[in-house]
Amino acid sequence: MSVKFKIDERKLMREVQKQATSKLNSQTYEVECPHCHSKIRVPVGKSLCSICHNEINLNLDITFEG
Ligand SMILES: [Zn+2]
Repeated sequence: MSVKFKIDERKLMREVQKQATSKLNSQTYEVECPHCHSKIRVPVGKSLCSICHNEINLNLDITFEG
């Protein structure tokens, strides 16, 4: 017995990944500042540490399995 899906699975997965990625990128993350080692919350990308005001560049390494 075989089941055929009419939906374009690859297209659907791309859309899901795109939405998941944009959601992740709009959040802030608790990280340890590499300069002063304080626990701070920063968004993805370049921002300044609220404690020592040094630049932090947060990159999310997002991978999807499958
Ligand atoms: Zn700092």
